Amino acid sequence: MPELPEVETIRRHLAPHVEGRTLERLEIHDARWSLPLAPSELSAAVEGREIERLGRRGKYLVWEFEDDAYLMLHLRMTGTLLLSPPERSKHTRVTFRLGDGELLFVDPRRFGTGELALGPEALDSFFASRLGVEPFEPEFTGAHLHALARHCRAPIKAMLLDQKRIAGVGNIYADEALFRAQVHPLRRADQLTRKQAEAVRDGVVASLQAGIEAKGATIDDFRHPDGVSGTFQDRFLIHLREDEPCVRCGRAVRKLRAAGRGTYVCEKCQPRPRYAASASSARAPSRSARTSS
Ligand SMILES: [Zn+2]
Repeated sequence: MPELPEVETIRRHLAPHVEGRTLERLEIHDARWSLPLAPSELSAAVEGREIERLGRRGKYLVWEFEDDAYLMLHLRMTGTLLLSPPERSKHTRVTFRLGDGELLFVDPRRFGTGELALGPEALDSFFASRLGVEPFEPEFTGAHLHALARHCRAPIKAMLLDQKRIAGVGNIYADEALFRAQVHPLRRADQLTRKQAEAVRDGVVASLQAGIEAKGATIDDFRHPDGVSGTFQDRFLIHLREDEPCVRCGRAVRKLRAAGRGTYVCEKCQPRPRYAASASSARAPSRSARTSS
């Protein structure tokens, strides 16, 4: 699943093509996309309006239209936005018509969504119930992360994946952040020291930044709106590197399960806490190294 850096990459790509233009038509070919609204209701609310800004919150792209109408688009597992692609895909679920150009939302597994908010208060309440702190906002400090962690008995990896606590981090960037912080993914969040919380916060920001600089990671179906791919998968420090030598210490990277996800760790750099001894990895079902996030 695209995470914050992939969605931010798409946003930066698309913004110059859509900002200041009018969405002439929004053709929704799959009624599931706009639930709970009928396709016609959603289209009627945004068609004919100028797109003032393309924003992002967590893993959502936020289309800001004139008169405070907002469309919150989530790509989920396999969604991609393609600008005037040369050929049609049978998986096209939505067509955005922008004068001479068109933008297609292509989504083979059909989990992607488009939701409407009318007015800034509706937008705020939409996100207030779904998303926690935005990692690049100044309020996301080590102290903030430590405060979140103190009330969380789950492993730190599970906490990082919880969008209601921290927005935008998924499986790739959680692994990368914890490796940078030298914290084991199975360490209980409420047992992080203040110093570890600082390191995890810094690890989250640094790994997300590195992802954005590489224009996202291309695993599974992620593509840029012009069909080009990101390169962050070539720069992973730990994620998907099972059995390869750790870039810090040389010991083989291990794969285990944490928060129900394939998780990569160097157990020398990220010492396993005693209470998380053995079992979780021994019990883990064998899976291919390719993991969707
Ligand atoms: Zn290591």
